[in-house]
Amino acid sequence: MNSGTRYKDLKDIPIGPGYPIKEKLQWARVIFQQVGMQMKEDRVIAGLLADYDRKIDASWQAMWKNGVVEECTICAVQDGGSCCGQGIENKFDVVNLLVNLLFGVSLPDQPWDHTGCWFLGPKGCLLKARHVICVNFMCKRLYAAVPAERLQRVQMAMQAETDAAFMLEEYIKSWLIRYEKSKSEK
Ligand code: SF4
Ligand code: SF4
Repeated sequence: MNSGTRYKDLKDIPIGPGYPIKEKLQWARVIFQQVGMQMKEDRVIAGLLADYDRKIDASWQAMWKNGVVEECTICAVQDGGSCCGQGIENKFDVVNLLVNLLFGVSLPDQPWDHTGCWFLGPKGCLLKARHVICVNFMCKRLYAAVPAERLQRVQMAMQAETDAAFMLEEYIKSWLIRYEKSKSEK
């Protein structure tokens, strides 16, 4: 895709994660510039975004309340551990990235840490809408440090978050198909 490419046809959007991250970022930005406002004005998308937003907040609250954030901070700050390794950005697809733009997230043009995930910033993840792999990840250290019933509460909140993400992403895909169809009928 050339930097000057405009979003013209849904069939040109790379579907799925198997494309270079730069290409997917470019497509997400192009779609956002062209139809982002229309998407935000769609009542269903607005409702699903608001619901997803609440579920993301609830997940973070559950992680704070149940000791996950504390353990991950000790791991990252004191012990130099991290689960945000280079290459995880490749799991994202264009719609995941587009959702972040709809949330007002500024997506980086290059990684801050070239040994880490493209979306890792100096204070952690730069994204609001994280990939399901990132949301659901629990390492052995967490299983050892956080009591099972507490982890279960966190996992329930995470499940609600990823369900909300799925509903929104699927609706956006169907919205793009309808948009493309309506353009071809004009
Ligand atoms: S999930 Fe595990 S590896 Fe990742 S920051 Fe938390 S404790 Fe460390
Ligand atoms: S949580 Fe964010 S920084 Fe970490 S791997 Fe996932 S997208 Fe990358």
